[in-house]
Amino acid sequence: MNCPNCNKAMKYLRGDMSTGKPGKKYDRSFYECRFCDVWVTVELPQEKEAE
Ligand SMILES: [Zn+2]
Repeated sequence: MNCPNCNKAMKYLRGDMSTGKPGKKYDRSFYECRFCDVWVTVELPQEKEAE
């Protein structure tokens, strides 16, 4: 993932799980640009039910 501001590679910070909608789970990832302090959060829907 590249920074939308300076287009440099962003640093992966961490990931966790999010429940954006009832009954759906998302893999959430946080990215940070070390050059211009831009934050991006990506939420990918999980295809299969976890646990
Ligand atoms: Zn940047």
